Amino acid sequence: MRKVKFSKTTLKLQKNRRISILKSHPKGHKVRENMRKRENEAPLKQESRRESNRLRIARLRALETVQEQESRRKSNYLQIMQGRLSETAEDREERLECHRNVTRSSRIAIWKDKENAAYSYNPSIDYKSDASCILGAMSITCQFCSAKKFKSETPGLCCSGGKVHLLVLRDPLEPLHTLLSSESVCAKCFRRI
Ligand SMILES: [Zn+2]
Repeated sequence: MRKVKFSKTTLKLQKNRRISILKSHPKGHKVRENMRKRENEAPLKQESRRESNRLRIARLRALETVQEQESRRKSNYLQIMQGRLSETAEDREERLECHRNVTRSSRIAIWKDKENAAYSYNPSIDYKSDASCILGAMSITCQFCSAKKFKSETPGLCCSGGKVHLLVLRDPLEPLHTLLSSESVCAKCFRRI
């Protein structure tokens, strides 16, 4: 998994947000105490703790039934909504700023080692197995204009969701029509040029 490196401001905003969320959490005081203990944790120890937490959570989630998963997601959603209802305009701005920073950092991370890559091809890089370089097949067909598109292209990219109608291309005028469609020697010769 690609690791995103956040700026100090983003990390501070994230920390402040966690603290403000924990204020309304029943076990918030305990978690805040743990956060204080971890402030002076060595980077190696921090990484190892986080990795073991990730594995523990992944193991627990793998054992969850569909109902348990749904119930957890629902309770998380309600908790988030409850937090948002009680946030002030300042809290909201801080949350949105934090979200913007996270999105920006993730976008930059993808292109960090690909900047100007189109102009400086490096044969030692395995572009084929890099997810950010794989476009896939043009397997999507627009339901309005029948344009062929790649998976990640937006629905409105070709005809703005059916709002743009192009005139149907008419057959070309003679003699071009015959030269493009006839099987005569002259026409075949023309198409080879
Ligand atoms: Zn279309």
